Amino acid sequence: MASSIAKYKTDVWSDWCPGCGDFGIVAAMQKAFAELNLDPARTVVVSGIGCSSKTPHFIYANGVHTLHGRALPFAQGIKLANPELTVIVNAGDGDLLGIGAGHLVAIGRRNMDITVILHNNQVYGLTKGQASPTLRRWEQVKSLPRPNIQDAVNPITTAIASGFTFVARGYALWVDHLKELIKAAINHKGTALIDVLQPCVTYNNLYTADFYKGKLYKLDDDPDWDPVVRENTPEEVDKKISQAIAKAQEWGSRIPVGVFYVNPHIETFEERIARLNPLYKETPPALQEILSNNNKPIIGEYEFKTLFKNYIVKVESK
Ligand code: SF4
Repeated sequence: MASSIAKYKTDVWSDWCPGCGDFGIVAAMQKAFAELNLDPARTVVVSGIGCSSKTPHFIYANGVHTLHGRALPFAQGIKLANPELTVIVNAGDGDLLGIGAGHLVAIGRRNMDITVILHNNQVYGLTKGQASPTLRRWEQVKSLPRPNIQDAVNPITTAIASGFTFVARGYALWVDHLKELIKAAINHKGTALIDVLQPCVTYNNLYTADFYKGKLYKLDDDPDWDPVVRENTPEEVDKKISQAIAKAQEWGSRIPVGVFYVNPHIETFEERIARLNPLYKETPPALQEILSNNNKPIIGEYEFKTLFKNYIVKVESK
C-alpha cells in the first residue's frame, strides 16, 4: 500500500535557486518512495558535494552528505554493512564522472544493489558554473571565458561499459516519468544508474527547459523498444548493449529518455559474498553483537577479532 508523500518531506530550508531542476528530482524521489512505501528507517540517501548533494537534507530518511566524489564508497560501505537497507546515491555529473569516476566504474563491476541518481546539468553549479564532464566540446556556458575544449563523457555508455545492470535517463521536469524510473531502479536487483537531465537555471544558458522542449522523447513510446536481457545468451546481451549505446548517441533535435538497458541475470556483490560466507546474509557486520559477555563494548576492548569473527579469512600456512 502506498504511503503519503508528506512522510518523506522535511522542513529543512532549501537554498537551491528558484526553478532549479533539483526540485523536480526530489519531488520524483518522494513520490517514488511513497508509492514503494519505503520505510524511512531502512532507507539511506547518500550524496557527495555540489548543489545536487544537498538532496538528503530534503528527504525524510537516513541521509549522509559525504565528500566530493566519495558518495559511492560511502554507499557501498553502508550496503555491505547491512544489505537489507535500500541505498540511493544522489550526486552531480562532476562528482560522479570527474573526481568520482573511478568509483563509478568500480561499483559497476561489483553490481551492488544500489540506485545512483546522477544530476546532469553540465556544470559545477555550486562553484559558479565551470564546465563539468558532460559539457560537450566547443560548448560555452555563460560563466566560461572561452569554449570548453574537452570532450564530454556519456553517462549512459560509461555505465553500460562499467557493468551497471540497469541504465536509464530521465528529465527533472518530467516528475512522474522520472518517478517511474526511480521505482524501477530501486526494484532492480543490482547497480542502477539514472542519468537525469536537469536544467541549471543560473549557470547553464544552453541546456535550458526551452532547449529540451520538443526534443525529448520517451523510449517506452516505441512498442518495439525492449531494453531487457531476457535469455542472457552472449548474442542477446551484445544486441541489447549495442542498441542501448546507439540510442545513447542521439543528441540534438531528438533526445531519448527512458530505460536503455536492463540485465536482471547478473549476481550482485552481496550474493557473491554470501556465497563465500553463508553467515553474511543472516549476520552482516551491522547486525553483529557489539557488547561482550560482561556487557562491555567489544570495540572498546579492541576485540576486533570477536566482532568480525565470522569474516576472518583463514590462510593455510605452508
Ligand atoms: Fe540549481 Fe544551478 Fe542554482 Fe545549483 S546553481 S541550485 S544547480 S540552478
